[in-house]
Amino acid sequence: MIIGAGGVGRVVAYKCAQQKEVFSDILLASRTKEKCDEIKDAIGDDRISTAAIDAMDVPALVALIRSFQPDLVIHVALPYQDLAIMDACLEAGVDYLDTANYEPEDEAKFEYKWQWAYQDRFKEKGLMALLGSGFDPGVTSVFTAYAAKHYFDEIHYLDIVDCNAGDHGHPFATNFNPEINIREVTQKGKYWENGEWVETEPHQFKKKLHYPEIGVKDSYLIYHEELESLVKNFPTIKRARFWMTFSEEYLTHLRVIQNIGMANIDPVEFEGKQIVPIQFLKAVLPDPKSLGANYKGWTSIGCRIRGIKDGKERTCYIYNNASHEAAYAETGTQAVSYTTGVPAMIGAKMMVTDQWKKPGVYNVEEFNPDPFMDELNKCGLPWKVELDIDLEL
Ligand code: NDP
Repeated sequence: MIIGAGGVGRVVAYKCAQQKEVFSDILLASRTKEKCDEIKDAIGDDRISTAAIDAMDVPALVALIRSFQPDLVIHVALPYQDLAIMDACLEAGVDYLDTANYEPEDEAKFEYKWQWAYQDRFKEKGLMALLGSGFDPGVTSVFTAYAAKHYFDEIHYLDIVDCNAGDHGHPFATNFNPEINIREVTQKGKYWENGEWVETEPHQFKKKLHYPEIGVKDSYLIYHEELESLVKNFPTIKRARFWMTFSEEYLTHLRVIQNIGMANIDPVEFEGKQIVPIQFLKAVLPDPKSLGANYKGWTSIGCRIRGIKDGKERTCYIYNNASHEAAYAETGTQAVSYTTGVPAMIGAKMMVTDQWKKPGVYNVEEFNPDPFMDELNKCGLPWKVELDIDLEL
């Protein structure tokens, strides 16, 4: 059962439908049923059924889960619904998977603590919750686990690098939900060093990094949620940072949006009605779904790692490049949704085929990375490894 019929939900539905021997029946449910129906029609598979659901309405969601009786709920709606959907899964007795950690709607702050607090409840019921099975978090976390398993005795320095070198032809648009995206990139930066978090001003640190097949791009240090679980699960890490590319044009728009108050999440009164500025902004920005048709170019996301193997220092760069055009040709959406939806399907496959299965709440890097990495190669996100190169970091 897939919840959320946005860009990511669309890719998950396409990819699950391609794996008939694993996913025999699919229910796609979202707030707006028409969006589910449109995806079902585009895929053209009768095994997909659709439903309207407000995932914040836990009793209604429990009833829907009970009527369909899925083996797994794949949550690709918004992070605000994580806890409500986890509650519903516990009550209905079904496993859970998501791609983004919980964020309260009234506070731009994402942390794993709220979801990790469900550990005992999932264990007691013999259920599993897999957190962060998108690209970042998700594939970047599995890349780190794979490098730790095959190339290092100890990882000391981890830099996750995320480049979107695509061009959608708009002066400003966000690649996924604008509200979530703008909240993420306008917050203060943060990285892990010597056992503690170091906070930075937004976009305070910039480096010119070279991305394979793309070239050199300005990359900015931002906070990203997988850093929190990775430094916990790989305690030898001395420093962990996350870098994302932004163009000057994008940052200028973002600065203006912030300066004029349009990124605010506190409601304001407008003509007798309460509106949240960033939600209004979402309504006037291009719908991320509409970007796909003219999107050209590549994304390149990976992990640059330094550590020790057999007493010697070594480096490793492990990455995937994905094409916006190829993603659109296959699923009708651009590579940012594609690179999130494919690993969500793979995480689901790991769970329903019992390759990753234990009661409790886990992040993806806590499981054997090998079968997940094999599936990435087979399912449209091939990866490459370069060893003992200059990491530029
Ligand atoms: P979209 O905004 O395109 O889609 C979200 C969908 O969720 C919409 O169809 C919306 O329905 C539905 N929805 C929202 N609220 C509810 C609700 N209360 N009940 C039921 N359905 C609801 O987002 P994306 O597809 O771009 O992103 C989906 C998720 O993936 C987000 O959590 C995002 O943070 C995450 N993500 C993770 C990445 C990763 O690499 N790990 C990268 C990119 C995204 P409606 O349209 O009717 O309002």
